[in-house]
Amino acid sequence: LEPAYQFMIRVRVPGGIATPEQWLVMDELADKYANGSIRLTTRQAFQLHGILKWDLKNTIKEINQTLMDTLAACGDVNRNVMCSTNSYPSAIHQEVQKWAQAISDHLSPRTGAYHEIWLDKEKVVDSRDEMEIEPIYGSTYLPRKFKIGIAIPPSNDIDVFSQDLGFIAIQEANKLIGFNVSVGGGMGMTHGNTNTYPQLGRVIGFCSPDQVIAVAEQIVTIQRDYGNRSDRKNARFKYTIDARGIDWLQQTLHERLGWELEEPKDYQFKSNGDSYGWKEANDMWHFTLFIENGRVKDTRDYQLRTGLREIAKIHTGDFRLTPNQNLIIANVTKQKKDQMEQLIQTYQLTNGGQLSGLRRNSMACVALPTCALAMAESERYLPSFIDKIEAILQEAGLHQEEIVIRMSGCPNGCSRPVLAEIAFIGKGPGKYNLYLGGSFTGERLSKLYRENIGEKEMLDTLKPIITQYAKERLDGEHFGDFVIRTNYVEAVYSGLDFHK
Ligand code: SF4
Repeated sequence: LEPAYQFMIRVRVPGGIATPEQWLVMDELADKYANGSIRLTTRQAFQLHGILKWDLKNTIKEINQTLMDTLAACGDVNRNVMCSTNSYPSAIHQEVQKWAQAISDHLSPRTGAYHEIWLDKEKVVDSRDEMEIEPIYGSTYLPRKFKIGIAIPPSNDIDVFSQDLGFIAIQEANKLIGFNVSVGGGMGMTHGNTNTYPQLGRVIGFCSPDQVIAVAEQIVTIQRDYGNRSDRKNARFKYTIDARGIDWLQQTLHERLGWELEEPKDYQFKSNGDSYGWKEANDMWHFTLFIENGRVKDTRDYQLRTGLREIAKIHTGDFRLTPNQNLIIANVTKQKKDQMEQLIQTYQLTNGGQLSGLRRNSMACVALPTCALAMAESERYLPSFIDKIEAILQEAGLHQEEIVIRMSGCPNGCSRPVLAEIAFIGKGPGKYNLYLGGSFTGERLSKLYRENIGEKEMLDTLKPIITQYAKERLDGEHFGDFVIRTNYVEAVYSGLDFHK
């Protein structure tokens, strides 16, 4: 008799775009094999939790029948390629999304093992050598996972500087002219090990759209060839660059490309959050819905999963999983808009629109009980903790103030906490490190402010700072900028200064 081992399945969704049919299959599988909920992730993927070992194969098969897959959603390869979701409507979104899909396709592992194991495809004896089978990854794949995303300014919703390789779409007169290239971002670290640190990507140049695949491939091969394979904690691309220098990276990239990147172009980010509600773009309507920590499930008071199922049944557009774990009901025709709005109202999907600015900009990773790496609660705890901070904000007259707050159950940083203005990273049961000073646009790291504190101290620490912010902030000054100006923490623009 075997124990009932449970697993999580992550479904790769490049750019977070899913059809209504795919949504309905995920919804069905959530009941059939998983724990009755769907989790939208910070990398625009689906996760199903609680799948029993003997149901894994059928779940993966049924996911593949919808033309989605779980290949390279995990492992030491390029992961789900992210793309800004157009919650700030942009004329070039469709074109940029195609490049995200193309990068994803180009960097997918070519191995047949996935299909042989999970989809019962016949095993083929392949006499080719490993570099022929996997021309990009070779026989040993990458030293660690690799993350790529494309941001479309003014939205930095994908947190482009958290990516190993980030592209920033540049447009002129509503036309995509190319991408700035950012390298060496990454969130993970290990508590107590200062050789590990979060890092911001650095912009090294500009390429045209038709050069973007070559840049992605060569960057990945550089990491394949030079990444640290003897210490997994120092194996991410950020450490490869920091050990050898950004000049070395540029020179090696140019040699491998046979041409040079141009000088980076100007761009400006306005936020790394989502913009909610109805927006019109390209003759279609798009509704961005807040989904607290990406968890789609029904409760007695909030029939979110049922409401989205009913929407999917009549939807002729698509769904966009946002990098902030929210959902866009996208490409709704003018004719369908009223019907959609009716369903949104019937199921009270917007909770009456009364969310605070803090909650609208909040994000927690999964953590307990399903993530084996979690040291503390995150998704199950942040909502009630925000209730308590909201009381402080209310008193200070800041209920609608947009402040980015994120929580992670461990320093792996799946919710990209160190880019938040207020961040909590789990240290142990009920204990967190508090970080302050990330920017509202995701362009600065936060800094450790208090270590290993419990809820009372977390609130006692935040209260005077929030109160002072309400009284002394400059016109339009964001919370993260305020705590730096008033010397609570120093500004951190490089991971090498993170622990100083
Ligand atoms: Fe798990 Fe840590 Fe990621 Fe949270 S940050 S989901 S605890 S690995």
